[in-house]
Amino acid sequence: MKILVAIKRVVDYNIKVGIKGDGSNVDIDGVKMSANPFDENAIEQAIRLKEQGKADEVVAVSIGSSANQDVLRHALAMGVDRALLVEHETEVQSLEVAKLLQAVADKEQPDLILLGKQAVDDDAGQAGQMLAALLDYPQGTFASELDIENGEAIVTREIDGGTETVALQLPAVVTADLRLNDPRFVKLPNLMQARKKPIENLSASELVTDLTPRLSLINVAEPPQRKAGIKVDSVDALLQQLRTKEGIAL
Ligand SMILES: Cc1cc2nc3c(=O)[nH]c(=O)nc-3n(C[C@H](O)[C@H](O)[C@H](O)COP(=O)(O)OP(=O)(O)OC[C@H]3O[C@@H](n4cnc5c(N)ncnc54)[C@H](O)[C@@H]3O)c2cc1C
Repeated sequence: MKILVAIKRVVDYNIKVGIKGDGSNVDIDGVKMSANPFDENAIEQAIRLKEQGKADEVVAVSIGSSANQDVLRHALAMGVDRALLVEHETEVQSLEVAKLLQAVADKEQPDLILLGKQAVDDDAGQAGQMLAALLDYPQGTFASELDIENGEAIVTREIDGGTETVALQLPAVVTADLRLNDPRFVKLPNLMQARKKPIENLSASELVTDLTPRLSLINVAEPPQRKAGIKVDSVDALLQQLRTKEGIAL
């Protein structure tokens, strides 16, 4: 069984990004970039399935500029077998990501495609769903457990108020939630070895001819500032505050 894992290069989740002066976008010049955290869960699960003898090969794919080699090297250091870089210099939106991944899937013929449930930069949460639709594969989104049994992916999904377990006929698309696993720590020797491994380059425009964006970003703004709270030393003082300052009849 072959597993394809998609990895997006995003601003590191520890960084608080600012907004450009003209509100046209967030300002990511010079900030630390990393693999999307949910994608690390997807990589980890793919490697675990290989270690359990349930998969033979794990292939990582990232779409973007040559800078994306760093997240692919991270995936190689974690333990994926091969890495593919779909080269595209400008930002691609979810539908274009899904179309490019569809083209990679046509080429690679994986039995299972793993993605993160969302990318932490735009929080769209739709690339996996669009990919499953384009490929006409069954999908299991927000996976908190994933196993392979008798040619099916058994996916436990987080839903409002509980979990749901579904069996997907392979080939299938699964999107990973944070509770799926704890991604392994990458040791320095593995990172050094990963530096020597080849990364195969594919041209986005050769895979998909129409990559025209369909959405335009109008404005980015900070959330409204919250008023500072106050501390009161008794219930009576709290009631007094609510009556006088907030105008609540108590
Ligand atoms: C684990 C988890 C975490 C969550 N965290 C958050 C959170 O942090 N913040 C938050 O705000 N919400 C959160 N939610 C709530 C979640 O975002 C809502 O449940 C979500 O809006 C539903 O999206 P959906 O894709 O599942 O719905 P869908 O069923 O796909 O519905 C989406 C829309 O499609 C249309 N539609 C669907 N079915 C029909 C129909 N039969 N006829 C006509 N129109 C239809 C409707 O317009 C509907 O609103 C969370 C939910 C879960 C499970």
